[in-house]
Amino acid sequence: MSDPILPRIRPEIAALPPYRQGKQAGADAFKLSSNENPFDPLPQVAEALARATPVNRYPDATAGALRARLGERYGVTPDSVHVASGSVSILYQLVLAAATVGDEVVYAWRSFEAYPGIPLVSGATGVPVPLAPGARHDLDAMAAAVTDRTRVVIVCTPNNPTGPVITSEELAGFLAKVPRDVLVILDEAYAEFVTAPGAVDGLAERVFESHPNVVVLRTFSKAYGLAGLRVGYAIGHPRVLDAARSTAVPLSVTSAAENAAIASLDAEDELLARVAVIVERRSELVAGLRAQGWDVPDAQGNFVWLPTGDGTMAAAAAFDDAGLIVRPFDGDGIRISVGEHESVEKVLRVAESVVRGLHP
Ligand SMILES: *Cc1c(COP(=O)(O)O)cnc(C)c1O
Repeated sequence: MSDPILPRIRPEIAALPPYRQGKQAGADAFKLSSNENPFDPLPQVAEALARATPVNRYPDATAGALRARLGERYGVTPDSVHVASGSVSILYQLVLAAATVGDEVVYAWRSFEAYPGIPLVSGATGVPVPLAPGARHDLDAMAAAVTDRTRVVIVCTPNNPTGPVITSEELAGFLAKVPRDVLVILDEAYAEFVTAPGAVDGLAERVFESHPNVVVLRTFSKAYGLAGLRVGYAIGHPRVLDAARSTAVPLSVTSAAENAAIASLDAEDELLARVAVIVERRSELVAGLRAQGWDVPDAQGNFVWLPTGDGTMAAAAAFDDAGLIVRPFDGDGIRISVGEHESVEKVLRVAESVVRGLHP
């Protein structure tokens, strides 16, 4: 049978690989490929889900209750808060609002795998800037990459998938070099896991007030364990956030997600105690891996980075065989999420066997 004639698709979109999710784990495997939270939802969160608006009703299109709650939490007006179905949605909304054909979006690379596709969808051109030694953002090079065509710069701290943060001082120096009419998105998806002294905290430091061109992104997916519900938020200047509200798909934040997010803020102490446990496991992993000779960069998220280079796919297969689903980036490295307690020792065991295999 001959191929049917299909509708014409924008060639740059047709050339994009569709989103591929981290592998699903088998029953006895540990899924360490998507930086998810290994803990089950708190009972309060489960109750909040049960109380959500019946599913035959639309949710509140403005997520007003959650925005008010976050506004209180951070001492800003509800207008300075924007909620969406995951902070990835907000990245799309902001780039769509700010950049189109002929415009440029600067980001570090390697960084979050969603970044390259985002300018593409809006017709803009992505400008990836290689990381500096230590797998850190090269903020000088990123500032130098800003031209009169640049509309957006994405800064990821801690950087997914490599781990290091940007310091307050580094960010201040960078922002001083970026024109005030260029949108800077500070993606802080892993902020709650950060322990490095001097690390920037865009909300605590109110960077969005001293620099109204900065929008700070946070999510309930990682530290708060709500990845499956899809809810994230931005804090910034109300008029900048209005642009994101204008490009958003209406009514995407479900009432279940909004309720669970509010219940999570109510139970923040309990959730942050779990974060502390994950941070402890992270330290164990980093120390163990470094003792084996791995050059692990500073890990400030809920994941560690193994620079496996050309041996990446073989190393990932070794983890896979041992029932550990990890996230390989071919030719570069492997990101391993900090998961269940029992997974830590297992990761260390396999990593050591890989070291022996790579250096027989
Ligand atoms: C996980 C992640 C996000 C957030 O994802 P959502 O689930 O869409 O909120 C955003 N940025 C980075 C760098 C991430 O790793």
